[in-house]
Amino acid sequence: MTKERQVLVVGGGIAGMATTLMLRRLGAQVLLIDLDPGWRVYGAGITITGPTLRAMKQLGIYDEVAAQAYVGQGIRICDVQGQPIDEVATPIAPDAGVAGCGGIMRPLLHRIMSAHVRECGAQVRLGLTVDVLTDQDNGVQVQLSDGSEHRFDLVVGADGLFSRVRQLLFPQAEKPRYMGQYVWRTVAPRPRGLDQRHFFLGGPHKVGLTPVSPDAMYMFLLETSAQRGHVPDADLAPQLSRLLASYGGPLREIRESLSENSPIIVRPLEAFRLPRPWSRGNTLLIGDAAHPTTPQLASGAGLAIEDALVLAEELRGTDHVATALQRFMQRRYERCQLVVENSFEIGNRERAGAPAGEQTEILARSLAALAEDI
Ligand SMILES: Cc1cc2nc3c(=O)[nH]c(=O)nc-3n(C[C@H](O)[C@H](O)[C@H](O)COP(=O)(O)OP(=O)(O)OC[C@H]3O[C@@H](n4cnc5c(N)ncnc54)[C@H](O)[C@@H]3O)c2cc1C
Repeated sequence: MTKERQVLVVGGGIAGMATTLMLRRLGAQVLLIDLDPGWRVYGAGITITGPTLRAMKQLGIYDEVAAQAYVGQGIRICDVQGQPIDEVATPIAPDAGVAGCGGIMRPLLHRIMSAHVRECGAQVRLGLTVDVLTDQDNGVQVQLSDGSEHRFDLVVGADGLFSRVRQLLFPQAEKPRYMGQYVWRTVAPRPRGLDQRHFFLGGPHKVGLTPVSPDAMYMFLLETSAQRGHVPDADLAPQLSRLLASYGGPLREIRESLSENSPIIVRPLEAFRLPRPWSRGNTLLIGDAAHPTTPQLASGAGLAIEDALVLAEELRGTDHVATALQRFMQRRYERCQLVVENSFEIGNRERAGAPAGEQTEILARSLAALAEDI
């Protein structure tokens, strides 16, 4: 952007915060709004890949993540009893200067990113959304939910899976649908020597462990279920305990430690496919608002940050926002599709009970492809 532009970022998640930071670096005036008056994030762990860490480095948060969370290399594949049977590499070019993978609690990542946003000179307004978007010549007229009207050069819809901006741009687009699996997650003490990501394959569910700090790790369990239902809080620990019944090693210890006080979060996996373009006029959808992915490749957060990096690169030096958005689309579509489609395919194989090798083959192939430059 060659002159000071007015940008509205709708949604203060990973995509919206990364976009705010990158566009402030270009000198844009950024208003970031989030529907949640408390700007909260739920307390689960997430896994981060080498490409995600590379994107975090470019964003300027890698050192904090590496110091306060977990970074490491490789994924140890174990059987149901916790015996190692294979190893999947987590490649990333050495000159990226980052580890091959990592893990972090969402609230910590939110604290790190939101502190940068608070310091970067953007305006942050909470409890607010967008009601009306009207395309104008090289701009967008916006009515916010407080009734105020503003003109922006660029609007970025980073408002997640149930995006209101997507609904306003593309009312006929496919809605999020249930993908046939639930993710259970809990946090446990990290045993001494557990220094890698782990998958436990070959049992009734896919289960994994990722360290998130020197002394904590999170466990996820993917449960196949045809029905989308609700689990009452009182049933969380007993149900998770039943799902883990046939597992040994560290998973048995986690099962035995579960109680009504355990921090257990269960969520259905939901997604949709949005054909390109993800923009209309000078409004662009990024992150989960455009390309939500089931978590099998643990790449949703990374794609969200990469979107912000590429958007900033394409906007640099041009006054014509719509052209920059077209170039963004050309660079982002295939890579995001790879994550979305391969994650769906791994989910299909998990639900079908495919052998461990059929699950890790596509994982390894996808991680190698994602290690390529963006
Ligand atoms: C169960 C599960 C596990 C996952 N595990 C991983 C993992 O291990 N690794 C990984 O990389 N990714 C993982 N992901 C994916 C990752 O969480 C997402 O890809 C990522 O959070 C997308 O960020 P986002 O900013 O696009 O959306 P979000 O994180 O959803 O943020 C959207 C923001 O917009 C705000 N908002 C919503 N509606 C409005 C509105 N109308 N107006 C204004 N603001 C609004 C919300 O309050 C929120 O702050 C997982 C996802 C799920 C569901």
